[in-house]
Amino acid sequence: MMTYIEPAPITDKENPLASMMQRFDKAVQLLGISEEMYHILKVPRKQVIVGLPVTMDNGEIRTFEGYRVIHSTILGPSKGGIRFDPAVNLDEVRALAAWMTWKCAVVDIPYGGAKGGIACNPRQMSAGEIERLMRAYTTAMLDVFGPDQDIPAPDMGTGPREMAWLMDEYSKAKGMTVQAVVTGKPLVLGGSLGRTEATGRGVMVTALAGMEKLRLNPYKATAAVQGFGNVGSHAASLLRERGVCIQAISDISGAYYNQGGIDIEAAIAYRDRNNGMLEGFQGAEMIAPEELFSLPVDVLVPAAKEDVITHHNVANIQAKMIVEGANGPTSFRADDIINEKGIMVVPDILANAGGVTVSYFEWVQNRIGYKWTLERINRRTDRIMKDSFNKVYQTAQQYQVPLRIAAYIVAIDKVASTYKYRGGY
Ligand code: NAD
Repeated sequence: MMTYIEPAPITDKENPLASMMQRFDKAVQLLGISEEMYHILKVPRKQVIVGLPVTMDNGEIRTFEGYRVIHSTILGPSKGGIRFDPAVNLDEVRALAAWMTWKCAVVDIPYGGAKGGIACNPRQMSAGEIERLMRAYTTAMLDVFGPDQDIPAPDMGTGPREMAWLMDEYSKAKGMTVQAVVTGKPLVLGGSLGRTEATGRGVMVTALAGMEKLRLNPYKATAAVQGFGNVGSHAASLLRERGVCIQAISDISGAYYNQGGIDIEAAIAYRDRNNGMLEGFQGAEMIAPEELFSLPVDVLVPAAKEDVITHHNVANIQAKMIVEGANGPTSFRADDIINEKGIMVVPDILANAGGVTVSYFEWVQNRIGYKWTLERINRRTDRIMKDSFNKVYQTAQQYQVPLRIAAYIVAIDKVASTYKYRGGY
């Protein structure tokens, strides 16, 4: 077996990004990829660091550091969100950019991977300060961004509002309206129908595909969902619609259990009236947050944050399948135990790729100057998610590996073979 000398960018094995690199290395070795190609796939194509002086509301000028890393453009223009968070740094952005390459490749959309970020704390900034920062970042990235080059999107700390400012600033500089430079925009600015619920929808489609393989009847199946934000609440609601009994949900306020099934629409309505929180929700009894992972349900959906299933709690899991709505919810060290227990894991780069798929549809609609109906978007998203699941499943059988490693094999093989045909780029 070939040994590779270059270390993963982050060395703490429980770090989700380092976990991603461990799985990447495993898939590369199974594919028998040359050391040369390994380095091509690992090293980002472009890394841009900019200093962004911004006038704050009190008249002071503060300089922020912003990053954009283009990991790969071999499959098409690069795609990836912009993160506003005090902890943003180049290593993190680099690893997240690679993550995007594999996610786009696994669902077979014609994008490479990128990620951007600014080290800042948006919770301590006014809307005006955030706007000036976003516009300064866009100006600094005018040569990087472009509908055929690199297409940003929201990530932690940014949303449709920031994407609207980016699009406006970019358009002013180009002297014309360029909607397709960014996705995740407000609907009136060329955002796509179906984008909000797209990630949860992909979770539902891949969960049902997995249940079919395990011969679990959705109408007799039970599930627990951690996280009741964008991904978790839509996944829960759509799974419920398909017959699955959602016995437990949770958010930062705690975990809620009802053996007979939680009324998900009532929980969503309650959350929306209650500052986005489930705190005080009466349709279930409260349980300890950690208990959610050990419930005797069929399907477990971690849809809150990274690194929640680790070698510390994995032994308690009773679910037959885990569908990763969140990015990196399972640590590398938990993988072996999960596999020994025979639990099927639909991995993050497949399960939560519904979001980037509808972002791609937003870009396509902007480019053709036409708006698709919600029905068309949902139908196409469902097909892409189902086809991707099947491809990963077949690969898992072919290589005799879990779905997670199979997803990396599918993605890496696609990017590596494209390199071979193009002869480098
Ligand atoms: P969100 O902010 O809308 O919701 C997060 C939810 O998790 C909230 O309900 C919050 O209260 C809850 N939460 C936070 N910490 C928790 C904890 N310790 N225990 C239980 N609940 C907790 O975020 P989101 O957009 O739904 O994203 C969730 C995850 O999915 C993240 O890992 C994100 O990277 C990933 N993801 C999101 C998208 C998307 O389109 N939104 C796409 C791909 C991946």
